[in-house]
Amino acid sequence: KIEEWKKLREVPTISTDGVHVELAANIGTPNDVTGVLENGGEGVGLYRTEFLYMGRTELPSEEVQFNSYKTVLEKMDGKPVVVRTLDIGGDKELSYLEMPKEMNPFLGFRAVRLCLERQDIFRTQLRALLRASVYGNLRIMFPMIATLDEFRQAKALLLEEKEKLVSEGVSVSDTIQLGIMVEIPSTAVLADQFAKEVDFFSIGTNDLIQYTMAADRMNERVSYLYQPYNPSILRLVKMVIDAAHKEGRWVGMCGEMAGDATAIPLLLGLGLDEFSMSATSILPARSQISKLSKGDMENLAAQALQMSTAQEVVQLVRNINA
Ligand code: PEP
Ligand code: MG
Repeated sequence: KIEEWKKLREVPTISTDGVHVELAANIGTPNDVTGVLENGGEGVGLYRTEFLYMGRTELPSEEVQFNSYKTVLEKMDGKPVVVRTLDIGGDKELSYLEMPKEMNPFLGFRAVRLCLERQDIFRTQLRALLRASVYGNLRIMFPMIATLDEFRQAKALLLEEKEKLVSEGVSVSDTIQLGIMVEIPSTAVLADQFAKEVDFFSIGTNDLIQYTMAADRMNERVSYLYQPYNPSILRLVKMVIDAAHKEGRWVGMCGEMAGDATAIPLLLGLGLDEFSMSATSILPARSQISKLSKGDMENLAAQALQMSTAQEVVQLVRNINA
């Protein structure tokens, strides 16, 4: 198996009926890029920038951030890099940032909600990203978007910072794609409207599942409700993909589900364009997809969407190998 995976390192990911999908990796630091390339990643589908802000005593400067983003873009050498803007709050706290205790941190003041209020923090990150954009193929993504208004506000700040930089004589790429994470049910349901304004979606199933099922992703006692294969989740994923494709946008997934061997046949069938996962999952996923027919998986997905429980869906997928 290891030998087979090695051979797959340099080849694209193509189903038996000739459909190409992109396999990308999730990273947390520039050092992770080595593993992405060693495992044949075709891009970075999620660069979680929180780690830049964690484990220090003050906010990272524009310069510190610029260097990290530039390093990742250069190492990826023209391959796409999706950088997610700061997603702090919820379970992730910063010691130097005063955050009042909340009853429900996962439903509280986090991610883009915080960035839109603390514009100083957000603008610094956006400037660092814009400055780094000329060193590779940068895509920017906002986390935890619940309304179109949030997206428009965040985009406006990005454009403001871009104009400032350009007027200062700093070069900024004109081909930066701008997308959002779809990890809140409201956004999945309204994907057709979002699709008119964003360049791409990346489905964050880790959060989308917890918010759809109202089951804390960290709470053992309700973990039985954390059901990636629940038909309700699959239907949301389908809504997002169909809405995006109707507007000619691409859709990725960067939650754990994207690298899950049981989910992959269904996601291929639903038409997912980009799968972003931990680097070590890429070659097994490529091997799996190269043995599947997308046409057959479309039929499989159509059946799964009509099922009533997660167990039935799992059984259905297991049967393809039986
Ligand atoms: C997600 O919610 O699926 C996701 C990828 O983001 P995180 O795990 O960082 O919340
Ligand atoms: Mg998330």
